[in-house]
Amino acid sequence: MADASKPKKQDASSEDAAKDDSDSSMVDVPRGAPVQVIDNDGMLVEDKLQDILMAPDVQDKKVVLISVAGAFRKGKSFFLDFMLRYLHKTADGGAGADKWLGPGEEALTGFSWRGGKERETTGIWMWSRPFIRALPSGEEVAVLLMDTQGTFDNETSMKGNCTVFALSTLLSSVQVYNVMTAVQEDDLQHLHLFTEYSLQVYEGGHQKGVPPFQNLTFLVRDWSHVDSHPWGNEGGAAYLNGVLAQKPDQHPELKQVREHVHSCFEKLDCHLMPHPGFEATEDPAFDGRTSMLRPAFLPVLKAAVESILSPDKLVVKKVNEEELTATALLCYFKAYTALYAAGDLPQPKTVVNATAEANNAAAKANAFKTYTRAMERQCSSKRMLSDEQFQVAHKAAVEAALSAFDSTKKMGGKDLMSKFKESLSAEITDSHKFFLNNNRLKNMLGAFKTPIVLVIAMLA
Ligand code: GDP
Ligand code: MG
Repeated sequence: MADASKPKKQDASSEDAAKDDSDSSMVDVPRGAPVQVIDNDGMLVEDKLQDILMAPDVQDKKVVLISVAGAFRKGKSFFLDFMLRYLHKTADGGAGADKWLGPGEEALTGFSWRGGKERETTGIWMWSRPFIRALPSGEEVAVLLMDTQGTFDNETSMKGNCTVFALSTLLSSVQVYNVMTAVQEDDLQHLHLFTEYSLQVYEGGHQKGVPPFQNLTFLVRDWSHVDSHPWGNEGGAAYLNGVLAQKPDQHPELKQVREHVHSCFEKLDCHLMPHPGFEATEDPAFDGRTSMLRPAFLPVLKAAVESILSPDKLVVKKVNEEELTATALLCYFKAYTALYAAGDLPQPKTVVNATAEANNAAAKANAFKTYTRAMERQCSSKRMLSDEQFQVAHKAAVEAALSAFDSTKKMGGKDLMSKFKESLSAEITDSHKFFLNNNRLKNMLGAFKTPIVLVIAMLA
């Protein structure tokens, strides 16, 4: 018989977690499941991503996207599951929010984490249910968590590594770079390689001198040099300053890497984490319960999670100074994955173009939505609008849509903008026909009380 008092290793495959979801009224675990949105070859799993980002309560909200990247089997998913726990337990923001780490015997669930040698995560996974949180301004945003394939492990090819890390950097507003024991020259070199394209991305845009990416947070696991820098964020900031300092006698390559990191990210941060304790890491049955973790680990873990997820710390994803909604983010996922799936690593120029395409596609999607929503509002009554009323409503909706399109800051120049504006007009024309038919259908139904099947037959 199973011994209920003994921790049992969790192995949350996507399906298991989905089962959790259906039972979530009874079990106190985060609702949702990890869903693979980019496969191991860098291909977008579009329908899955669409389900997440286009959910009715999510699509129009601005997004905060936190992605954790770094070598495999270094506690990335383990850390993500604590972020998940924070978001889950502080959902109502009320009293007790400070106790989100929960009872010591609670197993850690969510993204799949485990010991052993085989890689657990491949490609990029996202938590299926975005967390809706309020910023200090009161604005509600959708918080998304992303788990990535291990980089530079012994199995994955260089291209796979670059693709996953580059996508994670391009798409996130907070990139958590998980490293072991210290920030090594190697880690910085990898970062340099992964973000190589980033500076050029903005040479094509208007925002010269503005870092293309937002927050980069180093999470240094198993930090032991507490005599020089204490655990936590303050020690981490001082340590990172030292690591990234440029010195006169430094090799030009090392200097360049440091300059690059500074010019790529708006904000750099670092947390020095204690080892979580051998009682936990050496026990094959360890299920993530905090009672088995070394006591020094918990306050540092708690502070690290809160420094990323507290309402006043949330960072909305921006591209070219424009804050992205979930709908816009979907356009960027499509554009960037198309690039990386194409074969060889893309040239910086093509990344610039993809960013400009996605920027215009997002403006178009938003403008089209403005049109259809205005028309839905105008045509919502059961009574038909007269032709004249309909034309007035259509004209106003077109104006609102074009103004929404024009008011988005564009990248990529006039020709690209005109191409997307023309395609917006074509979609509006199609949609106009649909609304017009629907409006006339109301008249037939109202005037003749004709059975619906006959009306459909008449229109066909
Ligand atoms: P990932 O491949 O980077 O996502 O790693 P996982 O989150 O799956 O964790 C791999 C193993 O590392 C698990 O057995 C955890 O118990 C263990 N682990 C978690 N956090 C830490 C840490 O901070 N230090 C060490 N040494 N091990 C950890
Ligand atoms: Mg993992």
